[in-house]
Amino acid sequence: MATLNSKIPQGELKDKWTRYKASQKLVNPANKRKLEIIVVGTGLAGAAAAASLGQMGFKVKVFCIQDSPRRAHSIAAQGGINAAKNYQNDGDSVQRLFIDTIKGGDYRAREANVYRLAEVSNNIIDQCVAQGVPFARDYAGYLDNRSFGGAQVSRTFYAKGQTGQQLLLGAYSALSKQIKRWHGNTLS
Ligand SMILES: Cc1cc2nc3c(=O)[nH]c(=O)nc-3n(C[C@H](O)[C@H](O)[C@H](O)COP(=O)(O)OP(=O)(O)OC[C@H]3O[C@@H](n4cnc5c(N)ncnc54)[C@H](O)[C@@H]3O)c2cc1C
Repeated sequence: MATLNSKIPQGELKDKWTRYKASQKLVNPANKRKLEIIVVGTGLAGAAAAASLGQMGFKVKVFCIQDSPRRAHSIAAQGGINAAKNYQNDGDSVQRLFIDTIKGGDYRAREANVYRLAEVSNNIIDQCVAQGVPFARDYAGYLDNRSFGGAQVSRTFYAKGQTGQQLLLGAYSALSKQIKRWHGNTLS
């Protein structure tokens, strides 16, 4: 029976992706436009990847099968997005977010990839804020958190009950910006 090779790098769990990233060949900025990257799908993963790669200077072709790139399943996500920022000072950490996510996935997820997700979770929130995602805020103006999905800490960043939709709009605007930058027009 054929098995799927997930190509997870070797090494200690905590170092796998960090070491892999550090040992990859760099691409000269002058050569970035010579590399064409194909992204299939414009859900949160595809749209964010395409927008970021475009911003980094690569030549990106992104495909979607809906009438608009905003029409992805990601729109259904409501509860929010987790990050180990520990704003509430309730003892959160990358390790705790990693363990909760592994448990939440019924121990079926690939550990190295979940660890990486936990590691970059704070950057993801910052990126979404930079894209203009209107996350809920407290009265002082700081990003609000809530406890969600059985977690014992408050680490869920949310935009009312429509987080997925708002994240998708953020990713979509970032994508439109890159389309305008490289092709001079935007999506309808
Ligand atoms: C009801 C619901 C609630 C959720 N709530 C939360 C939550 O609160 N917090 C959370 O973190 N996660 C939540 N999730 C999970 C989260 O929404 C998903 O894991 C995430 O949005 C998946 O994003 P994606 O970009 O990988 O996939 P998708 O959003 O499914 O995007 C994939 C895209 O690829 C397109 N595609 C597929 N094949 C092709 C092809 N051959 N050519 C072109 N396009 C193609 C699809 O049409 C789709 O647009 C929820 C999920 C659901 C369903």
